[in-house]
Amino acid sequence: DLEERVFNFAAGPATLPEKVLKKAQSELYNWHGSGMSVMEMSHRGKEFLSIIQKAEADLRALLNISEDYAVLFLQGGATTQFAAVPLNLVKPEDSVDYVVTGSWGDKAFKEAQKYSKPKVIWSGKSEKYTKIPSFDSLEQTPDSKYLHICANETIHGVEFKDYPDPKNGILVADMSSNFCSKPVDVSKFGAIYAGAQKNVGPSGVTIVIIRKDLIGNAQGITPVMLDYKIHAENNSLYNTPPCFGIYMCGLVFDDLLAQGGLKEVEKRNKKKGDLLYNAIDESKGFYRCPVDKSVRSLMNVPFTLEKSELEAEFIKEAANEKMIQLKGHRSVGGMRASIYNAMPLAGVEKLVAFMKDFQARHA
Ligand code: PLP
Repeated sequence: DLEERVFNFAAGPATLPEKVLKKAQSELYNWHGSGMSVMEMSHRGKEFLSIIQKAEADLRALLNISEDYAVLFLQGGATTQFAAVPLNLVKPEDSVDYVVTGSWGDKAFKEAQKYSKPKVIWSGKSEKYTKIPSFDSLEQTPDSKYLHICANETIHGVEFKDYPDPKNGILVADMSSNFCSKPVDVSKFGAIYAGAQKNVGPSGVTIVIIRKDLIGNAQGITPVMLDYKIHAENNSLYNTPPCFGIYMCGLVFDDLLAQGGLKEVEKRNKKKGDLLYNAIDESKGFYRCPVDKSVRSLMNVPFTLEKSELEAEFIKEAANEKMIQLKGHRSVGGMRASIYNAMPLAGVEKLVAFMKDFQARHA
C-alpha cells in the first residue's frame, strides 16, 4: 500500500522506484509463467540467462557502452573493487594516483597500498572534503598507471561535474553513489565500478564496466573471484551470481529507459537538488551546506543547523512525518538527505516544506 510507505532519505541501501517494487512483487511467486521465483531458478537456465542478458543490454543502452567494454555483475560491494582495481590493472611495484575528495576515495587509496604503489596527488581532507580540485592543478606521478577518483562522495556530498583526462595512465572511477543518475561518457574511463544499492538495485550486486583490452593482466595472487578475466569470459556466470539482485537491477534499468533515459533522469535530479539546495541557501544561515556550490552532489545533500542542539529534534520530527534516515554519517554529524533517482520530487517538496516550518518554529 503506497499510503504506508515513507520517504526514505537513506544513503544506501536506498529507496527504490515503487513501480519496480510492484513489478517484482507481481512476479515474485511465478516469473513469466515459469512456475518459479527468480530466487529459485538455475543461474544457467534459459530464464535467468534472458534476465541477465536483458539487464546488460539495457545498461549498455542507458550509458551508451560500446563493445570495447565488458560489463560485469559481481559481488563483494564497491569495497572489494578497492582491491580488485589494483590487482587487475597493475603490478605490485607500479605507481598509481589517487585524488581523495572524501572518505570513500581515502578507503580506496588505503586498500590499494596492499597491491600497488599508490600516491595521493590531491586530498580535500584539510578542507573537510568540501571541494574538487581544478584539473590543471593535478600533478600526476610520471609513470602512473591510472588515476582513481570517487565520482560522488556519499558521505561528504561532493560530486565531480566533469572528469579529468589523466596525463598518465587511464581514468578509474568509483561511481557507486551517482551511477546512472546522469549521462556519462564511458569512453573517457578505463574502468568504472559501482555498488548497486543506491541508484540501481539492492545491495549484493556490484557493477564493473571495464575496457576489454585492460582485462587479462591480473597479479598472480588475485583470487579467482576478483579476476575480471574470469568473470568476463564467463559472462558474470563463473560461479553463482547474485541472481535476484541482478534481476532487480534489470527492472530498474528497464524503468530508467522507459523514463526517457539518463538525460531525463538527470533533469529530474537537478530539479530536486536545486529545490533542496535553494531552501538551504535561502534560510539565512539557519541551515548550512558546507560544500563548494559548484561541486555539490545531486545525490547526497549534507547540511547542518546553525543551532546544532536542535538537530536531534529535527530528525525526530521529520521521522514523525514519515521522512526517515536524515541523520548525517556518524563521521560528519548533522543531517544528510540522499535523493537518488528513485526519490520522488514529492519527497523533496515535503522535506523542504518541513524545513521551512521547522525554521519558523525555531528561528
Ligand atoms: N564507494 C562509495 C562512493 C560508497 O558510497 C560506498 C558505500 O556506501 C562504497 C564505496 C562501499 O560500498 P559497499 O558497501 O558496497 O562495499
